[in-house]
Amino acid sequence: MCGVIGIIGSSHPDKDRAWAAYDCYRGLLTLQHRGQDGAGILSYNEDRKKFHYEKSFGLVTNVFTEKNVKSMLGNAALAHVRYATVGGGGLGDLQPMMVGFPFGLGMVHNGNLVNYHSLGRKLSQNIGLQLLSENDLEIFLHLWCEGITKHARDRRRIVFEDIVSAARFITEEAKGGYAVCGLMPGVGLFGLRDPDGIRPLVLGRREVKGSGKFDYCLSSETHALNFLGFEFVRDIAPGEVILITPSGEVLSKELLPRGKSNPCMFEWIYFSAAESSIVGKDVYSVRLRLGRLLAKRVEKLMERGEIAPDVVCPVPDTSRTAGIALAEVLGINYREGLIKNRYVQRSFILDNQKERERAVALKLSPVRSEIEGKNILLVDDSIVRGTTSKRIIELLKANGAKEVTMAVTCPPIRHGCYYGIDFPSKEELFASDRGDEEMSKWINANKIVFLQEEDIKEAVGLSSMCMACINNKYPTPIEDAEEFVHNRRIDKDLIEGVLQ
Ligand code: AMP
Repeated sequence: MCGVIGIIGSSHPDKDRAWAAYDCYRGLLTLQHRGQDGAGILSYNEDRKKFHYEKSFGLVTNVFTEKNVKSMLGNAALAHVRYATVGGGGLGDLQPMMVGFPFGLGMVHNGNLVNYHSLGRKLSQNIGLQLLSENDLEIFLHLWCEGITKHARDRRRIVFEDIVSAARFITEEAKGGYAVCGLMPGVGLFGLRDPDGIRPLVLGRREVKGSGKFDYCLSSETHALNFLGFEFVRDIAPGEVILITPSGEVLSKELLPRGKSNPCMFEWIYFSAAESSIVGKDVYSVRLRLGRLLAKRVEKLMERGEIAPDVVCPVPDTSRTAGIALAEVLGINYREGLIKNRYVQRSFILDNQKERERAVALKLSPVRSEIEGKNILLVDDSIVRGTTSKRIIELLKANGAKEVTMAVTCPPIRHGCYYGIDFPSKEELFASDRGDEEMSKWINANKIVFLQEEDIKEAVGLSSMCMACINNKYPTPIEDAEEFVHNRRIDKDLIEGVLQ
């Protein structure tokens, strides 16, 4: 998973200032939870006819300095935080990416192309493309260029119809979940969302004081808009392409008749910031509802006398919200038995198992006074590989917990994701071939309680979502999934080889 931002302004007195890049930088700080492997910003300076960029590994605050942000001049910029799901982890896989021919183009994206490899081969046969990275964004860049070149009468005067043609070409060729943002010098800032709307993308605007004109922002989450002072305009529709020109004109087209949209349920369960709203559904409110629904399932076990929890304890941070609601409904005390070290990154994001296990121990410290002698109802948003739950239960027991019941606000994840969440292969998934009893045993809990598919629909308030990781119903064709998983494994092995 990744986070993207694109910003363009039409009425800034001093075009040489780096205001768009600076806004992108500040916006990235609010999207840091979407990716911690690397970050990048690209700006375009119309006066000098020049792209400026900076990208590197690590957190936003490690990559950018006052000096390098100040050097990214111009009235338009793109930005990205990376969470590696594919790619060998090299510098070449970081975003934004750009090309200078057949025209200037910079791009960022969030998501994954399931047919990345077959499209790579096709582009190599058709146009002799040599891929320079292992990131599917490079395929998007070339599809965009090909889509425009095929259609445009004059490459030096690209019009909205050419943009629509490029976007159409991508939606026909690319299979997967993606939210793309791009910049074309002289043409503007564009955005494109996959036809199922799997990955999120929102539009905001902000009036430039006294000018009657607006700056525009495309972002993965509304949280970034709010923080930067942009008013939320709307979600980009599934399969919609939007262009904001340098003079502030907003043009858009939905490429397909509106069908069912299939936003990824994991945005609400885990990924998005609690302050955000995804397709009009507030993340915080959804998480409260998830907690209430989980309480109903826990209540049944309590009524049957199978468990008698003394305290509800969340795994920080995401599941705190659900934990509060769960405790309220059950009338049980809510206690923070685990404190998160805020200076340590999310463990899951580190790429090999050994590192991941070490990180779990490092990032959470137990509060013995709230744990000792207690039956704990431990709440987490999801179980992926099971590493976190197993380690945490070990930690709680080592600090005197009597019994631990695991309550999870997501159904068992049994199938891979090919759309940008980092759990693509079945064998890695904790729940893929285990029943409830075996799962509890493995993590050393006395019981494990999951929400079910219908609970998620009720809590989010949508009947149609991408829930393929729990129900095996993929919204897009997945013929190429095997090759995707195979190559991802090679990439991961390479990274792990380097880290060990
Ligand atoms: P695991 O240890 O693999 O079972 O990971 C589950 C833990 O990681 C839970 O505490 C989640 O909050 C968190 N998590 C779930 N999905 C992801 C993801 N895609 N990226 C990072 N962390 C995740």
